[in-house]
Amino acid sequence: MYDAKAYSAASATAPLAPDTIQRRDTTEQDVQIDILFCGICHSDLHYARDEWHDFMPAVYPCVPGHEIVGRVVSVGAEVTRFQPGDLVGVGCMVDSDGTCPSCRAGVEQCCPSMTLTYGSPDPHLGGVTYGGYSESIVVDERFVLRVPTNLDPAGVAPLLCAGITTYSPIRRWGKLEGKKVGVVGLGGLGHMGVKFAKAFGAHVAVFTTSPGKKDDAKRLGADEVIVSNNPDEMEKHAGTFDFILDTVSAPHDINAYLHMLGRDGNLTLVGAPDEPLPVAAFALLFGRKSISGSLIGGIAETQEMLDFCGEHGITADVEVIPIQRINEAYDRLVKSDVKYRFSIDMASLKGE
Ligand SMILES: [Zn+2]
Ligand SMILES: [Zn+2]
Repeated sequence: MYDAKAYSAASATAPLAPDTIQRRDTTEQDVQIDILFCGICHSDLHYARDEWHDFMPAVYPCVPGHEIVGRVVSVGAEVTRFQPGDLVGVGCMVDSDGTCPSCRAGVEQCCPSMTLTYGSPDPHLGGVTYGGYSESIVVDERFVLRVPTNLDPAGVAPLLCAGITTYSPIRRWGKLEGKKVGVVGLGGLGHMGVKFAKAFGAHVAVFTTSPGKKDDAKRLGADEVIVSNNPDEMEKHAGTFDFILDTVSAPHDINAYLHMLGRDGNLTLVGAPDEPLPVAAFALLFGRKSISGSLIGGIAETQEMLDFCGEHGITADVEVIPIQRINEAYDRLVKSDVKYRFSIDMASLKGE
């Protein structure tokens, strides 16, 4: 074991503060990574404040962070795919059983014994796993991803959660060229959804309640912007969408968006409102429409997404902060006051 500097929360109401955690010594299959940047995901805040107590109670101290970009400093004897100096990423998972049907199908995120990057029982050291708000992490090479070197690493970090969360369902939907795709909400997830749908050749429309976001949506690649609380504007687009990515995590009327879909259209939820969303059966029956959900992506697909981003020059739009401003960033995140993701520059942790 070795000591690593980190920022942790000591309780659901405590601010994040400097701490020292233990990381395991590199096993034969492990990659030791110096963390350069870590994105701030809304899940980090939910977990640190124990807002998901019912299905994922927080264990304290907790060290969030699952949008990790770093540089390899050492590798175990059996590691074949990485060497010191490589630029790499780690997302929401750091291990899985590797044997269940989901793992064999390459969808490790559905593995019943998957180990999350933070807050999961740690099979190596006991306690729970600690995430990326730290100077260093040790991860099994199967869960380490290659990061294209032509991209800004600060903007790559959010790809490891927000990126794959939106890429996966858009990719799974199939050939998007010439299709009409809607993105509901223009935050950390939504802005990535716009970039990916556009890169796949779709005609992209953003649904937003804020007319002020129009220019920014277009800058990100949207072909049009629909103000969702204007019924006249909505009605003009009824029945015209092939696919809608719903990134909103606040309560909202999902039937209004089902009404936008054409025959066999699909709406995929990637946001997580904490209350159930009422669905009118008739909104689905007429037009054989469907609703699905999607959660991050498997490791192979995450690598595919990173490679795709390298080829197309795609990164998240980030505001880079030193870790000392993490609590202020959390407060702003609650108010959606960020364009569009915070990325922590971990060099700021060295001086602590
Ligand atoms: Zn996340
Ligand atoms: Zn499995």
